[in-house]
Amino acid sequence: MEVCSWAQNPADLPSRGCSVKTLLKKQWYEEPPWLRDSRDKWPDFELSPDENIIYAEKKKTVVSSLNKKNDEFYNNISSYKKILRITGWMYRFYENSKGFNKKSGELSKAEIKRAELKILKKIQEYSFHNENTQRLKPLETFTDADGILRAKTKLTMREEDGNFKVPIVLPSDHHVVKSLILYKHQELGHPGVQSLMVALRENYWILKSRRTIKKIIKTCIICQRFSVKQPEIPEGTLAEDRVKNASIFEVIGVDVAGPLIIKESKKVWILIITCAVYRAVHLELLMSLSTDNFLLALRRFIARRGRPSIIYSDNGTNFIGMDNSLKTINLRRLETSFTLIT
Ligand SMILES: [Zn+2]
Repeated sequence: MEVCSWAQNPADLPSRGCSVKTLLKKQWYEEPPWLRDSRDKWPDFELSPDENIIYAEKKKTVVSSLNKKNDEFYNNISSYKKILRITGWMYRFYENSKGFNKKSGELSKAEIKRAELKILKKIQEYSFHNENTQRLKPLETFTDADGILRAKTKLTMREEDGNFKVPIVLPSDHHVVKSLILYKHQELGHPGVQSLMVALRENYWILKSRRTIKKIIKTCIICQRFSVKQPEIPEGTLAEDRVKNASIFEVIGVDVAGPLIIKESKKVWILIITCAVYRAVHLELLMSLSTDNFLLALRRFIARRGRPSIIYSDNGTNFIGMDNSLKTINLRRLETSFTLIT
């Protein structure tokens, strides 16, 4: 690879651009004259970039951007607790980096409380600036020492400190207020509108609170599950085998329950036999799930209750085994011999 100065480089002109006059004057499509000589006669070019040219091409543009929504980080967070914790950690970082009151470890309760006040103050500034003060008209409000807007209630004369006497005024349509309502609703075990309103009123005065709380409770998945109306399905008619005139245990259903662990860690099962017509129940013990064991249990059942004419079962291995073994019996022959005996 050889280095060629920009003045001698024919590719420099089309790539850099020039006027038509220069283009006509310079025969850019031809190679430099020394290129036809042998390689050892080529001039030596040293790679020394002309800084003036480089700086002339350097774009002097300053890109400055100011993210005005920087302080509204909470708009993308749905959990109220998370918003408070993030704000708490931001203040912790700010104070530690400034060097005063350095702290470490988990956030304290006071830090979370302060973070909440900071967030609520920001919401108030956003929602109740001049144009919107109309919304506060029916309320008598004042700003406390921390700059928080509070409502004067009928209890102002009470000798008591705290939010209950002078609750923090909050708008109903702000994302953080909605997440606060949902957080309180979940924290208090999913109460209804009235109970949640009372609980929130202890600290906050939310404008149009009833309507807002109602709307938010409606979005709670857990409450939706509990308040859902059960679908009404008309009862179907029973099958003929369930209603016909029959003796007890004439039509039966069989199923197996278990296993149960008995002495010496042995497993046993219970054969449940139910009468389809009268719902009577007969239980037999199964020492294993084999077909032979099931047939023995069925034999014990027949000895006690009489022969069934129809047996219903699921596709349990032992039931299928019984079905297969019953198929091997020549019932016609049995019937003939039975008739002969009578
Ligand atoms: Zn709920």
